[in-house]
Amino acid sequence: LPMTVRTLSEAMGRPANQIIGTLMKQGVMVRINDALTEELALEVAMELGVELEIKRERDLEDELAAMLSDEYDEGAELEPRPCIVTILGHVDHGKTTMVDKLRSASVAAGEAGGITQHIAAYQVDHGDHRITFVDTPGHAAFGEMRARGANVTDIVVLVVAADDGVMPQTEECISHAKAAGVPIIVALNKMDLEGIDDQKILQQLATRELLPSEWGGDTEVIRTSGETGAGLDELLDTINITSELQELQTNPDRDAVGVCLEAFRDEGRGVISWLIVQKGTLEVGDVILCGSAHGRIRSMFDEHDNEIEAAGPSTPVKVTGLDKVPETGSHFFVLDEIEEAREVAEKRGHTGRSAYLAATARRPQTLEDILDQARGATVKNLPLIIKADSPGSIEAIRGEIEKFEHPEVRTAVIHSGVGGVNESDVSLSAASGAVILAFHVIADDRAALLADREGVEIRRYSIIYEVINDIRDALEGLLDPER
Ligand code: GDP
Repeated sequence: LPMTVRTLSEAMGRPANQIIGTLMKQGVMVRINDALTEELALEVAMELGVELEIKRERDLEDELAAMLSDEYDEGAELEPRPCIVTILGHVDHGKTTMVDKLRSASVAAGEAGGITQHIAAYQVDHGDHRITFVDTPGHAAFGEMRARGANVTDIVVLVVAADDGVMPQTEECISHAKAAGVPIIVALNKMDLEGIDDQKILQQLATRELLPSEWGGDTEVIRTSGETGAGLDELLDTINITSELQELQTNPDRDAVGVCLEAFRDEGRGVISWLIVQKGTLEVGDVILCGSAHGRIRSMFDEHDNEIEAAGPSTPVKVTGLDKVPETGSHFFVLDEIEEAREVAEKRGHTGRSAYLAATARRPQTLEDILDQARGATVKNLPLIIKADSPGSIEAIRGEIEKFEHPEVRTAVIHSGVGGVNESDVSLSAASGAVILAFHVIADDRAALLADREGVEIRRYSIIYEVINDIRDALEGLLDPER
């Protein structure tokens, strides 16, 4: 329960007015039922000469959040872990073909199901390194995972077909990868085709702030063909070099935490969940909590469907034993007691999916939320996504927004594009807390549904000055009052 002025007054045995008065002297205006932070309560107590001890109920959610933090592993022996790669790109640019080629090199001939069986993630050994590939179904799903707080990807491989170049979805993928803050390696694909003008594509990449290294920039562009396999070795080399720079390491010797990549109900085996371990080692028999599902791991399989007993960091596994299908992108935690897992799972189940997701992601949802959150930070950020009916409109809005430059406030257009608001925009917004400005365009049905579910605000406009007025109001509200 949050502490309010009323409960504090009861606890300290002092009238509420005294507390309100004390706070007012410090410039904090509160009413009797307003919640107080611990810090404020302690200040008031000190001011009034009352000794105050704040006791907290044991909050399992806080303990779970702590399991994800770096502090949890302080002092522990860290070991290198495989890098986790996600392949993104415009439809038909060759992702599936490339994945199949990469996998078939690692899939032993005659393996049951071979590469036809869908898998959520797989590993490839290359040089001294093992690389984990996560197969997210599109970049919107990548964004949705991030909106859940699931940042599993270390590197994005952006597939760009050399005969087609940078397309709208390519730009969306770039925005998602940049918002996630992960390095992008470009696979300039279909290089086996005749009459390719690769310089033209490099130019397109350069204008999207992906300056190719051969032009002095820091984006590696590898020429590939998923069809012939040409360049894939070099692509894997480049992944290894990039991941070495990241110095990825973690503690393998602890209770596991990770993320659910995908889950479904199987007629014979019950709930099957694809998990990727992020820290620690997951073992058969472990009690796990995953979203609002829980259970004890009955059996565990690797990507080749071999039964295994344990899985270390960055390893994808398929497990059985959860009581229901967990939400994609939710974190899983190994706990000591099945009762603990059940308690949290039930609590989460009761609050409902959307409330649970909103609470776990802890992100702003509307322009007002964002402004609230930004207040108090030294440099305020207002991330924006602009969708409009024409490149001219986007440029006009951008131009106007840029005029608001101020040392304390930064607007950042993290994505812009011509066309209606789509699922990618909504998931990007959900993951990054950006406001979507829709100028003369509307959201498609699936995007509208997703926005509803995620609590993302889409602000529609038909006149440029209205956009500008809104943003100006927002920014001015964000500026610290002159002191
Ligand atoms: P995705 O939608 O990105 O997964 O693309 P796909 O892998 O399904 O490929 C789309 C089409 O491009 C298919 O007809 C593939 O055969 C073809 N394709 C994929 N990679 C290559 C390549 O490297 N070279 C050529 N010539 N065709 C390719």
